[in-house]
Amino acid sequence: MNMARITCPSCQGVGQMSLLDVYYRGPYRCWKCRENFLIEMEDNDLKSCSPMSQEEFDRFVAEKAARDRQKNIGMS
Ligand SMILES: [Zn+2]
Repeated sequence: MNMARITCPSCQGVGQMSLLDVYYRGPYRCWKCRENFLIEMEDNDLKSCSPMSQEEFDRFVAEKAARDRQKNIGMS
């Protein structure tokens, strides 16, 4: 697991996030301005970052949780 640094495009606040994979596409919430984003990371590089509404953010979090649960079941 590695810690990726994410600079918020809105307030420039730098947040950290633990990534399990080299590639990550999913929700990110800035700890500073509480803005929600959909981010795409590759090799600890921020490839894209677009603002999301709270609704979209919640949906992504729920989808990701469902995927993680499936992954865990598959591994055990
Ligand atoms: Zn921010």
